[in-house]
Amino acid sequence: MKLADAADRVRELPVRVPLVHAETVDSYLRRLAAANHLPLHDLRAYLAGPSQYAKNKPPRPERLAAMTSHPVDRICTTLTGIDPPLRGKQQSSDTHVACSHCAARRGISMPVVCWSSHQWACLKHNRWVRTQRIDEQYDISRLPEVARAQRQHNRLVKRYELKAVSRAIGDSERILLRWTERGEWPEQRQRRLNTYFDVEHQRIPVHDSVITMVNYPEIVRLSGLLVSPFWSTLATSDDPKQVDVFHQEVRARLHIPYEPTTTFCPLRRWREVTAAERRHMKLRNNSGTSLTE
Ligand SMILES: [Zn+2]
Repeated sequence: MKLADAADRVRELPVRVPLVHAETVDSYLRRLAAANHLPLHDLRAYLAGPSQYAKNKPPRPERLAAMTSHPVDRICTTLTGIDPPLRGKQQSSDTHVACSHCAARRGISMPVVCWSSHQWACLKHNRWVRTQRIDEQYDISRLPEVARAQRQHNRLVKRYELKAVSRAIGDSERILLRWTERGEWPEQRQRRLNTYFDVEHQRIPVHDSVITMVNYPEIVRLSGLLVSPFWSTLATSDDPKQVDVFHQEVRARLHIPYEPTTTFCPLRRWREVTAAERRHMKLRNNSGTSLTE
């Protein structure tokens, strides 16, 4: 099948493929090629345009619009990585597969790879979606606290700047993962694993996605503290009494007997790094002020 005519006008493909919010352009092109029985590399080459018929060139939005009959502005606002294009590392580093039940309702059977958003669980279908694989989209109906954590996560996104929430969630995920690796505060995590998996008859697939799922309620609760200007100021204070108030809040919100007992404690490390960053910012701002005076 010829994808463009002699004047290089791109032709509309016979099978229309629906757009999915935040889907990576790479994932969309795979679905588009499969639905229209086209070799993916041919499709990519035509979408890059005649001057760039080469590997790994980004598709041009107006050519994709002409081929799919979706409006160009809708393509640019819906797909991730088309305008501006994602760099190679970004393409694979922080993505997840969209809820397969949501996709099926739209008639999509292939995996839909999305740029990682703040949706870690599908509340419509009670499924965990913070994973790269459909077979790891666990039913969370037996873990109501995971669905509650997603609602709380949504409230953080509404309340604070998106960049700040992303950072707090990322920091909290790393802190909880370090605690898990060190076997610290295991009760809730283990209870959720036991509730979810039949430990008598089924091997527990302990990998990052499952660990993140059973830690998710604490990840979101800790994020609520790290992103809060009030609590993060206490956490990074030079006054040990203020730091202690922060630690009490950590114990109360996460329901763990937290104590910063060792120098390797990841939360202690977060406090030290964040305090150093804040001192640096203050110095920079002060020197900037004196220069303009
Ligand atoms: Zn869903």
